[in-house]
Amino acid sequence: MSPGKKYIIVLGTIMSGLGKGIVTASIGRLLKTHGYKVVPIKFDGYLNVDCGTMNPFRHGEVFVLDDGGEVDMDFGTYERFLNTSLTKESSITGGKIFKFVLEKERRGDYLGRDVQMVPHLTNELKNRVRSVGEQSRADMVLVEVGGTVGDIENGYFIEAMRQLSGEEDVLFIQLTYVPSLSPGEQKTKPTQHSNRLIQSLGIKPEIILCREQEPLTKEAKDKIALFCDVPQENVFDDPAVDTVYQLPQVLKKQKLYDAIAKRFKLRKTKVNVGAWNRMVRRITKPPKKLLRVGIVGKYTAVKDAYVSVNEAILHAAAANNVHADVCFVESTDVEKKGTQALYGLDAIIVPGGFGKRGIEGKISAIRYARKNNIPFLGLCLGMQMMVIEYARSVCGMKDANSEEINKSTPYPVIALLPEQMRIEEKGGTMRLGSYPCILEQDTRSHSLYKKKLIHERHRHRYEVNPELAPKLEECSLVISGRSPKKGIVEMVEWKDGFGIGTQAHPELKSRLEDPAPLFVGLLKAASEKRRRRKKA
Ligand code: GLN
Repeated sequence: MSPGKKYIIVLGTIMSGLGKGIVTASIGRLLKTHGYKVVPIKFDGYLNVDCGTMNPFRHGEVFVLDDGGEVDMDFGTYERFLNTSLTKESSITGGKIFKFVLEKERRGDYLGRDVQMVPHLTNELKNRVRSVGEQSRADMVLVEVGGTVGDIENGYFIEAMRQLSGEEDVLFIQLTYVPSLSPGEQKTKPTQHSNRLIQSLGIKPEIILCREQEPLTKEAKDKIALFCDVPQENVFDDPAVDTVYQLPQVLKKQKLYDAIAKRFKLRKTKVNVGAWNRMVRRITKPPKKLLRVGIVGKYTAVKDAYVSVNEAILHAAAANNVHADVCFVESTDVEKKGTQALYGLDAIIVPGGFGKRGIEGKISAIRYARKNNIPFLGLCLGMQMMVIEYARSVCGMKDANSEEINKSTPYPVIALLPEQMRIEEKGGTMRLGSYPCILEQDTRSHSLYKKKLIHERHRHRYEVNPELAPKLEECSLVISGRSPKKGIVEMVEWKDGFGIGTQAHPELKSRLEDPAPLFVGLLKAASEKRRRRKKA
């Protein structure tokens, strides 16, 4: 029992894709603005130990935490909404929990017993939920159960939370969908049935949030309240919003916080929304000035693959008070059709990635940006490609490449990190998490971060080849940041024009209230260039 601590469990029903992560993060944000310390936890049913081995095509972006945890992209939403950094303890996957219990079994920790889902696995889950709450000293622990109620994969997570509700102060929230057969004809039956399904598991949701196609009618709310046995004021609308950052305000207006406060008997607190509302207004009512920002990548068919890059652009646009229109450009198309898809872009970003496909398209896009003086930002693989482009075009290193792409290149300007040479296993073995970097005085990077020592998150196996780095510098590529201990090249710049490449992923730490300096700089440069062009 953790006295005083409150637990909120969010369960998704009827179907996937209702935006459970955003709803959970919004609830967290609401509680935070009321002065409570909140820690989120996510259960994911898959048997991968973490997200590191998953393809962005199948599962969206792999998010990386300071401690190197490779986690579900919902963690990006949590961090952005709570403006806080989380640890990998908050991510509990089926694979992680089974691995732990099975290792215990092999060690003989359960000697003499048959090891079962209940109580061994469920006890372990409850312990972890409590321990995350304790370690983070949170007032509230917010648990998002991945998947949909009724799935095979999340059954034991839900059972563990049922047990927890007998031991702690637990509030269950059901997220549901209310379809309309025609305008005004809202159907609550799926919600009623899924609520019954939850109740058959021994759980009673006390708050119901409804995704819908049109605002919930009074009749629909009344019906849900009656059949799901909750007061009418505990049925909430979860409408489509212009930007996800609006949702905390939308839920607050409907008095969701009051319902939670009433249930937990919370004391009255001062509300502190900080810069949030002002920044949200800049997104929902953007100025006329439109900047077209291109992301040249190879997973562009899946919008979730570059969520953090997209969000970092949005944050930077709000900070610069401009309107950013993000255009996805498939790098293989640039390979096949040339650079015309890049015409009219005000800024170009080449994001992270792995493997050969689309590489030459990215290099062409970077050359196009450099030659046409279009502000450019290269992230991880994007930085590596920026170095290759420079080596080939400026330093005369014909066919320069990365060892990841071509092992027999005459100029391996990007090479495997020495510590990676002996590694065979794929899971959790990259250079992961937050590392320091020292920025050179009088560089663009330094003037954007406004400090010498910075920390950003990483996820890579290759680096700028230390043997060829002096040659690149000789032909004027600026090395503006290095890791303090090993001297790994962390940041490079073009001498003229705005072009920065970073081995890190600064997009992962960008927040609406604390936008990533490199993105802010990119959009500022793009906006200044646009102004100059207009004047000319
Ligand atoms: N594939 C490159 C490496 O492993 C870049 C990784 C990335 O962009 N995250 O170094």
